[in-house]
Amino acid sequence: MDLKRVLSIQSHVVSGYVGNKAATFPLQVLGFDVDAINSVQLSNHTGYKSHKGQILNDSELKNIFDGLKLNNLDRYSHLLTGYCRSESFLLEIASVLKHLKSINQQLIYVCDPVMGDQGTFYVPQALLPIYKDILIPLADIITPNQFEAEQLSGIKIFNERDAFMAMRMLHNIGPSIVIITSLCLENCSKLIIMGSMKGSPSEYVRFEIDKLDAFFHGTGDLFASLLLAWLYKFPENVKIACEKTLSTINMLLAKTIEHSISPDSCKYEVPLSARMELRLVQNLTIILDPPEICKGELV
Ligand code: ATP
Ligand code: PLP
Ligand code: MG
Repeated sequence: MDLKRVLSIQSHVVSGYVGNKAATFPLQVLGFDVDAINSVQLSNHTGYKSHKGQILNDSELKNIFDGLKLNNLDRYSHLLTGYCRSESFLLEIASVLKHLKSINQQLIYVCDPVMGDQGTFYVPQALLPIYKDILIPLADIITPNQFEAEQLSGIKIFNERDAFMAMRMLHNIGPSIVIITSLCLENCSKLIIMGSMKGSPSEYVRFEIDKLDAFFHGTGDLFASLLLAWLYKFPENVKIACEKTLSTINMLLAKTIEHSISPDSCKYEVPLSARMELRLVQNLTIILDPPEICKGELV
């Protein structure tokens, strides 16, 4: 049987699209059942002027997962994890993962090691050794950004050669697929994305895309979910999986900007943050069959 069932442990926001709200719909559109555990439940993402809500702790995660186990609801094809804020919660995820792998040895763990961006941590720095020593060695696919790749590899990335070295170092920790989701090198008007598969003869795939003059929330989570889905379809082809992922995101971001400046949006969605929420549900057909707009090169 073709098992396409993801356990996704990420943030939930009541309004808007980050974390599980950004990951679930695209995965469902691409044919996956998604069981979402919400690591936090917030009114909205943290880029708004305020937010309210609750945080799930490690024993609450264990409790929910025990419920799944008691009913034999613990057979998944994938575990996907994103933004988490505490050491104990990450350690509990490691226990969940070990159990899931004991039920399905083929389970694929996609780990987005969300820790920070542009030189700063936005989670406690104590999470770094847990990602590095416990979760990343158990992960099959990881999607760090530049800062996270630097922290995990111990290599400061100034140019593409440094990025290759960091990726090699990350492969040595365990994962067979490493994608650095955004690199801002000499020319910051462009974003470089790099991917590699351990042992692949063609080694690295590289993308260069125009950086839009806007700041989005949830794009990292969207990236990890789309990559999971497209790598399922093309398990041996990181280039095609990244092309599908990036083409989808590019189109969705263009639609998001287009919407944010439309008269209706300006009238009814008062803070700019609300107008800039990702336009996912309105663009289902793009997710299902993305136009080929981002082409990667093998290097
Ligand atoms: P995470 O924080 O989850 O580890 P990340 O910080 O790399 O991930 P983003 O910076 O949001 O996540 O990038 C994910 C993808 O979103 C990029 O690969 C790119 O395709 C797209 N993206 C995000 N911001 C922009 C932008 N300003 N212009 C163009 N593309 C963007
Ligand atoms: N989770 C929460 C609680 C957030 O506030 C945000 C972004 O603001 C995210 C996840 C999404 O992070 P990214 O934009 O890196 O995908
Ligand atoms: Mg980010």
